[in-house]
Amino acid sequence: VDFDFAVIGGGIVGLATARALRERYPAARLLVLEKEGTWAAHQTGHNSGVLHSGIYYKPGSLKARLARTGGAAMVAYCREKGIAYEVCGKVIVAVEECEIPLLDRLHQRGMDNGIPVERIGPERLRELEPYARGLAALHVPGAGIVDYGEVARTLAYDLAQGGAMMHTGVRVTRLRPETGRVVLETAAGETLGARFVINCAGLHSDRVARLGGVLPGLRIVPFRGEYYELTPERRALVRNLIYPVPDPAFPFLGVHFTRMIDGTVHAGPNAVLGLKREAYRKTDFDARDAAEVLTYPAFWRLAARHFGAGAEEVWRSLSKAAFVRSLRRLIPEVTARDVVPAHAGVRAQALMQDGTLADDFVLLPGPRAIHVCNAPSPAATASLEIGRLITDEVARHGDAPT
Ligand SMILES: Cc1cc2nc3c(=O)[nH]c(=O)nc-3n(C[C@H](O)[C@H](O)[C@H](O)COP(=O)(O)OP(=O)(O)OC[C@H]3O[C@@H](n4cnc5c(N)ncnc54)[C@H](O)[C@@H]3O)c2cc1C
Repeated sequence: VDFDFAVIGGGIVGLATARALRERYPAARLLVLEKEGTWAAHQTGHNSGVLHSGIYYKPGSLKARLARTGGAAMVAYCREKGIAYEVCGKVIVAVEECEIPLLDRLHQRGMDNGIPVERIGPERLRELEPYARGLAALHVPGAGIVDYGEVARTLAYDLAQGGAMMHTGVRVTRLRPETGRVVLETAAGETLGARFVINCAGLHSDRVARLGGVLPGLRIVPFRGEYYELTPERRALVRNLIYPVPDPAFPFLGVHFTRMIDGTVHAGPNAVLGLKREAYRKTDFDARDAAEVLTYPAFWRLAARHFGAGAEEVWRSLSKAAFVRSLRRLIPEVTARDVVPAHAGVRAQALMQDGTLADDFVLLPGPRAIHVCNAPSPAATASLEIGRLITDEVARHGDAPT
């Protein structure tokens, strides 16, 4: 018997979507397929663990709306399930005169988005973060921390308890839309049937969309984010979350200090082009993945526009001294002895054919399917609401099971 819904991808977006489908269609036969041996093996298990408040995003965008409502839903879910989280607040610090207008613009944007945010001076900054230095800052009390891997595993457990068929270690290699159903083929040679498919395949979401007969008009470009960690005796340098003023030309937030929910303090992530979709190490290379980026004209348009910033990122990735220099802008006391290399994560960032980085979440309809082709930060924060939005889209889709 066919499933009603098959979700491809066991990251937080796929799992939250399965949960929302379960809420809306309680009797539906639900299947979740994850290619790795565990849930949350990629972006969901390798990030900063920050509950974003929604200050950064363009008013009216999905990111702005869903970060705010999704953040509240995430806090409620963690409370209900006994998952550790903390709404500890964060500061965004301007360290140079030229950053002040950008900080003010961000302040306005936060207010436009309805986010509680306060403009503070150096003294108040010192009260909140005694080791941070800056000319001015924004205090965002609603930001927080959580372990999204734990959230994802809890979602998967709940779904299994509720009767969903949950499979790890199953990679979807083909999708074949037929009358009334989609046939999914797996790397192990199995075939499964579903009346509707939701593609939440993260770093592979563009490929899965193409498998499903959709030309997405974008390609996923992997951007590795490397972190250092403060040594245990220097953790006191950071109370909560200390961010720089982001460069408005990029969707990334800049190298920041993050107290994780387990008490460690991480510094990062940078943003370096990966030559493999899951390029966790600097040397990771995959010929097909690299060729897909390097033969994509949009990539060269992006590279030409941001050559200087890209070169700087590569240098900061190779040189610990350069990385520490960017940390010292925020906390001058940090030295190279205080930090050790920690984990890395890889962002699935959609690059549009015109050479621009997709700014907002991207959902594309296909035959008997919805493809989530751009769900970068703050998609973990927003995941429960993204799941509900996708379920609304499913309900509107002409091919949806009833
Ligand atoms: C360095 C970094 C820092 C970040 N910091 C934050 C933060 O602080 N706060 C925040 O809200 N967001 C943050 N994000 C973003 C957040 O982690 C992602 O938006 C979110 O995890 C996306 O979830 P996902 O389920 O779409 O993707 P993923 O977690 O990548 O899940 C996709 C899954 O699909 C599976 N898959 C792929 N292809 C197939 C296939 N063919 N068959 C079966 N399975 C398949 C993959 O194995 C993977 O597990 C950060 C991301 C990174 C990389």
